[in-house]
Amino acid sequence: MNSPVAAGSALVDRFGRVATDLRVSLTDRCNLRCSYCMPAEGLPWLPAPHLLTDAEVIRLITVAVRQLGVTEVRFTGGEPLLRPGLPAIVAAAAALRPRPTLSLTTNGIGLARTATALRDAGLDRVNVSLDTVDADRFAALTRRRRHHDVLAGLAAAREAGLRPVKINSVLLRGVNDDEAPALLRFALANSYELRFIEQMPLDAQHGWDRARMVTATEILAALRAEFTLLPDPAPRGGAPAETWLVAGGDGLRVGVIGSVTRPFCGDCDRTRLTADGQVRACLFATEESDLRGALRAGADDEELARRWRAAMAGKRAGHGIDDPSFLQPSRPMSAIGG
Ligand code: SAM
Ligand code: SF4
Repeated sequence: MNSPVAAGSALVDRFGRVATDLRVSLTDRCNLRCSYCMPAEGLPWLPAPHLLTDAEVIRLITVAVRQLGVTEVRFTGGEPLLRPGLPAIVAAAAALRPRPTLSLTTNGIGLARTATALRDAGLDRVNVSLDTVDADRFAALTRRRRHHDVLAGLAAAREAGLRPVKINSVLLRGVNDDEAPALLRFALANSYELRFIEQMPLDAQHGWDRARMVTATEILAALRAEFTLLPDPAPRGGAPAETWLVAGGDGLRVGVIGSVTRPFCGDCDRTRLTADGQVRACLFATEESDLRGALRAGADDEELARRWRAAMAGKRAGHGIDDPSFLQPSRPMSAIGG
């Protein structure tokens, strides 16, 4: 979407990309321990005084929408449903004009209880992460026996009218790499849209191994063995997923986010805010810009906007995973906001 703010006010980088899609991490904590994300024992969580308060989160979202032309806000984490203030934050963001599109990326635990309230607060869409249709595999992969909670959360989101309900799946070699067709069957049977995400080097344990990664090409081959995938007439825009219509799937799509093997950095329209108030230009950025300090020192909205623009102006052309000098960021995905 084009930025509605005046030229010179938007979040433009030196390659001319305009960031209109804000990812806000609301916490680095989580009630699962997905093996590709966190170690079994969890992580040293951010100290409470470092976390933005609900009012501070709302203030920075307001600056992003009013001063910087952000048109989409996605809440993530860690697990954003663990944040008690989430409905109030969603409601405040929904009251902004121009009203941003509001979405949530969640593991789905607790969504059965909260989907209706979140919709009433103004949430438009939800992505629920689910890597397997098998309860035992889920327990092995996430180290928690909560598969049924995720399924209930998905169903509640659909009943609440959050459309489309999307599923995010990561496939791991030797763990669930045989499940692409089963996940698509499950999604089609329940009217969910499915997106596979290539595993990225963002786990806290630094266990990612490119040679073992399940690639977009492999995932598509496995899907095509069972399904006919038709070209999607909808324009991709800055969306990370390449999508196809599933023949006989009632208009439902399946997508693959080939972050590693098919990078889409040239069209990136993202800016990120961590739960402790740092702006990141990219998931893989090694630099951050501290808005919390400025905000708590009394900066006005224009000063916060100026710092945010400066942080984005230096965004690098690409994530550089294939570059021999690539360094995994010191913050893991759960503390950046996926
Ligand atoms: N806890 C929420 C959830 O799981 O949806 C939100 C945060 S999670 C970090 C956001 C998304 O990132 C999830 O879909 C998850 O599967 C994905 N993710 C986490 N670690 C990843 C990794 N190393 N590579 C690719 N995707 C990853
Ligand atoms: Fe938690 Fe999401 Fe990471 Fe899984 S991927 S451990 S649900 S933050």
